[in-house]
Amino acid sequence: MKFKLIISNVCSFTAVILVLLLAGCTSTVTQSVHLKYGNPSNANGSQNNYLIVKPEYALSYSCKAGIPNWVSWQLDRSWLGRTERSDNFRPNPELPTDCYAVRPSDYRGSGFDRGHLVPSGDRTRSRIDNESTFFMTNIIPQSPSNNREVWRELEEYSRELAYRGKELFVVAGSDGIAKKIADSQVVVPKFTWKVILILDNPGEEATAQNTRTIAVWMPNSEAIRNTDWQEYIVSVDRVEKNTGYNFFSNLPKGLQKKIEAASYR
Ligand code: MN
Repeated sequence: MKFKLIISNVCSFTAVILVLLLAGCTSTVTQSVHLKYGNPSNANGSQNNYLIVKPEYALSYSCKAGIPNWVSWQLDRSWLGRTERSDNFRPNPELPTDCYAVRPSDYRGSGFDRGHLVPSGDRTRSRIDNESTFFMTNIIPQSPSNNREVWRELEEYSRELAYRGKELFVVAGSDGIAKKIADSQVVVPKFTWKVILILDNPGEEATAQNTRTIAVWMPNSEAIRNTDWQEYIVSVDRVEKNTGYNFFSNLPKGLQKKIEAASYR
């Protein structure tokens, strides 16, 4: 009797440990709020689709291109505080050893800005959050007119929505090869793009009624000087077609179809 009890206790104890182990192994990816609506390229551990999940955002990195394929992050009012821009650009030590870790100086003299995908301004709750946006794995060579004008204006509009109480899920990236810098280790993309899912209230489940999307596709050149971000509005469908990624894949197909076909007005 006593022996049986010990055995059954040992068994249930083992079962509990196994469940905990299993949860621990899958938690990094599935529990990240930044991948709540999906992993656009099914990023994993491979060299050119290398998944990095941080508390502040998640990204897929291409070792070959020396830039991220995409970066994905949740934005609501809770991320926004008073921390000053840290300007602490630095190589990311989380890359595999056979992957070149781009240095801030690699952009020097190129004529292109060290352009953030997750903006410094979206992570101002703490110094640690803000510094996280300055890893070179969150940076692409961006034309000054793109980075400082059109791209920045959409960033500011997004923060305005967050301040107004909305919850945003943003994915940003680039496309094409205009040229290469840093001894050909860093691609200068031809285009930058962004897709944003906007929920009326933080924590809400997405429905056709409470969900809108914004998508843009912009030349990464000085040709866009003195233009407005609204001129580059496209549908999420368009960005999916151009990049081959699937955004918001965790939503039901019918809902994806509906919100991804619309162009923001
Ligand atoms: Mn989709």
